[in-house]
Amino acid sequence: MRVVICGGGVIGACTAYFLRRHGVEVIVVERTEVAAAASGKAGGFLARDWCSGTPLDALARRSFALHARLPQEIEGDWGYRPMSAYAGHVVPDGDPRRTAPSAFDWLSDGIVIGQPLGTTETTAIVHPQKFTSAMMNAALAQGAELRFGRVTGIGRDPHGTRAKGVEVEGSIIEADAIVIAMGPWSLLAAIWMNMPALYGQRGPSIVYDTGTHVSADALFLEMEIYGAVTPIEVFPRPDGSTYVTAWPDTAAFPTDPADVKPEYNRLHNLQRMSERLSPLFRPEKIIATQACFRPVTEDGLPLIGRVPQDDGLYVATGHGVWGILNAPATGEALAELIVEGATRNVDLAPFDPARLKPLNVRRR
Ligand SMILES: Cc1cc2nc3c(=O)[nH]c(=O)nc-3n(C[C@H](O)[C@H](O)[C@H](O)COP(=O)(O)OP(=O)(O)OC[C@H]3O[C@@H](n4cnc5c(N)ncnc54)[C@H](O)[C@@H]3O)c2cc1C
Repeated sequence: MRVVICGGGVIGACTAYFLRRHGVEVIVVERTEVAAAASGKAGGFLARDWCSGTPLDALARRSFALHARLPQEIEGDWGYRPMSAYAGHVVPDGDPRRTAPSAFDWLSDGIVIGQPLGTTETTAIVHPQKFTSAMMNAALAQGAELRFGRVTGIGRDPHGTRAKGVEVEGSIIEADAIVIAMGPWSLLAAIWMNMPALYGQRGPSIVYDTGTHVSADALFLEMEIYGAVTPIEVFPRPDGSTYVTAWPDTAAFPTDPADVKPEYNRLHNLQRMSERLSPLFRPEKIIATQACFRPVTEDGLPLIGRVPQDDGLYVATGHGVWGILNAPATGEALAELIVEGATRNVDLAPFDPARLKPLNVRRR
């Protein structure tokens, strides 16, 4: 059996890894580079039970457990680290109140740290670019193939009922099964095939070189800027960098993932907010300023499973804010579905692509 995976983000990489463990022939087609988009520019924050009470709960719990197990299973260091998480807020300028415990003495005055949101049992972090690359490398080491090229269409059998191959810039790679995992660019497949629409939600981020001065705690803070209270998230990583991100927007995404850029004003505001948080967030300490698009669906839940009326065509995308967290369990479950026809650990019914109306663009 040969499976062609379209997209080398975290979902494509994890699916390739778990498919290879079933001994299936796997080819990944990636347009730019592995982890070129959100999977390389996300925070990488993981939480075991923050999806409790939602249809994502079982997927998130299974994936959180897999994240903890994978460092013992595959080679590489992607900065997996259990960490605590706290809520807090920034008091307005001029109010010198400080109620942060001493572990937070790297923060400026006037940052109030509140109740813990997570402990080292329930929250963790990975470096998303390194994690995605490690998963892809593990798949390649087990015999998967990675081809660079732009997926431009899906080929069907003469009866038009079964997806038979992936068109890559004019040539066809034949396949017994195809997985669409192109993040927001899976919208292209929705145009070609019978799939629901995908949207992109852009988020800016800044990565600072903070060395060893920052405690291993994720912070979810609120800060007033231009009269509006805005959330800002801070994720220190074991490699001595700290990732800061803030509010998303819904800009249209460019056709080429390599063209994704942060919007100037949002980036500028994020930098101002970061500088208010800590003297460590100085301009000369900036390692990267970037933006990426979360893939989102109409109802906010991912699409994971077989595309209706298209035997052999599967999709795994739309993971929104939890794509890094939920990638391992998505890859594991999809591999089981493709190879064995059923999943063992997670019920994919809530994510069945059939629940949403297809985009309904006339097929080519
Ligand atoms: C600012 C921000 C912070 C985030 N923080 C977190 C977090 O802390 N924790 C968490 O769990 N999640 C987080 N996320 C969400 C997470 O990053 C995404 O859900 C996840 O990365 C989506 O992965 P993906 O593989 O589906 O898509 P992508 O990462 O978008 O990968 C899609 C791949 O497909 C390729 N591609 C596109 N078109 C084609 C084509 N035509 N042919 C071939 N290849 C193509 C692209 O080049 C890309 O490599 C964050 C997202 C953002 C934007």
